[in-house]
Amino acid sequence: MLVPFLDLGATYKELKTEIDEAYFRVMNSGHYILGKEVESFEKEFAQYCGTSYCAGVSNGLDALVLLLRAYGVGEGDEVIVPSNTFIATWLAVTAVGATPVSVAPAPGTYNIDPEKISSAITAKTKVIMPVHLYGAPCEMDKIMKIASEHNLIVIEDAAQAQGATFKGKRAGNLGHAAGFSFYPGKNLGAYGDAGAITTNDPKIFEKVCHLRNYGSPEKYVHKYQGHNFRLDELQAAFLRTKLRHLENWNQKRKVIAKQYFEGLAGLDLTLPAQDSESASSSWHLFVVQTSRRDELRKYLAEKGITTLVHYPIAPAKQEAYEAKGSFVEKEAYDATGVLSLPIGPHMTTEMWKLVISEVVNFFKT
Ligand SMILES: *Cc1c(COP(=O)(O)O)cnc(C)c1O
Repeated sequence: MLVPFLDLGATYKELKTEIDEAYFRVMNSGHYILGKEVESFEKEFAQYCGTSYCAGVSNGLDALVLLLRAYGVGEGDEVIVPSNTFIATWLAVTAVGATPVSVAPAPGTYNIDPEKISSAITAKTKVIMPVHLYGAPCEMDKIMKIASEHNLIVIEDAAQAQGATFKGKRAGNLGHAAGFSFYPGKNLGAYGDAGAITTNDPKIFEKVCHLRNYGSPEKYVHKYQGHNFRLDELQAAFLRTKLRHLENWNQKRKVIAKQYFEGLAGLDLTLPAQDSESASSSWHLFVVQTSRRDELRKYLAEKGITTLVHYPIAPAKQEAYEAKGSFVEKEAYDATGVLSLPIGPHMTTEMWKLVISEVVNFFKT
């Protein structure tokens, strides 16, 4: 048996009738960009997140860029970001000309340490951009408190956290605004590139709607030097279909995570933080840590189990940020030995059982 890390085709096979119906609905409509499907998806996703507004955009990186621009962040401003994240978080900050100031994760978690945020704040700080990495929600109550004390904006990078909750609220509704990615591999994924912003602020929503569409409040009238960061009707129609199944899929991920916690306990392996009363992960990834990472990875590959590393090189160590002064690092961070085990709605019971038994075998021999 092979255990793929992800099987993107599985959702199409599962939902073929519904997806095909969505495809033909759009094709026959004769309208392909920013139309009824996008509007409906925006309403449905806002409702899912519990926010007043959602705007569909081209992808997750563009969602973050649009929010930074909507809040007027640019050259000379600093944005506090986690030191360990997918590089898009940093790229959004530098795309608007601002400087990323990186803060290390809290002990025992992979998320930004609220205790360390305060000392990273300067007169130039405008925004805190926490990332719910691997789907685990950040300690947003603490982060919002620090932000309000310093008059800062909090933009969630919720790209990996569709459906994650913190103290009863969903990701996307935990800061002033949030950026989502619907890259195919995310918990809610399109069949191409797509993204969204969510917020309760009508002004930010309106400005993002203008900025995503050439800065245009109405056709051929341009209020801002905007972008073409629009969402198309086909992706919106696919996302509407898949959104109806997201809770079910996230539940499957939760069950697999629970099995991993039980089956992998007691090994010489660091497991991720478990869900608590206040925090419930979307289990986008199940990341373990071991000093024998490469050896374990090779062993599992030989057994037909695909694993990945998120992420092999931190943003601060990338050539993209080699130039002196392109970022400020508060504390060097090295996530050595992280390994992502397969998790997702495509996995059968036999699959996660095999993953557990092979990881156990590796450490017992
Ligand atoms: C995927 C991802 C993004 C970027 O999303 P795209 O849709 O690929 O542009 C941003 N931040 C994080 C944490 C991500 O995982």
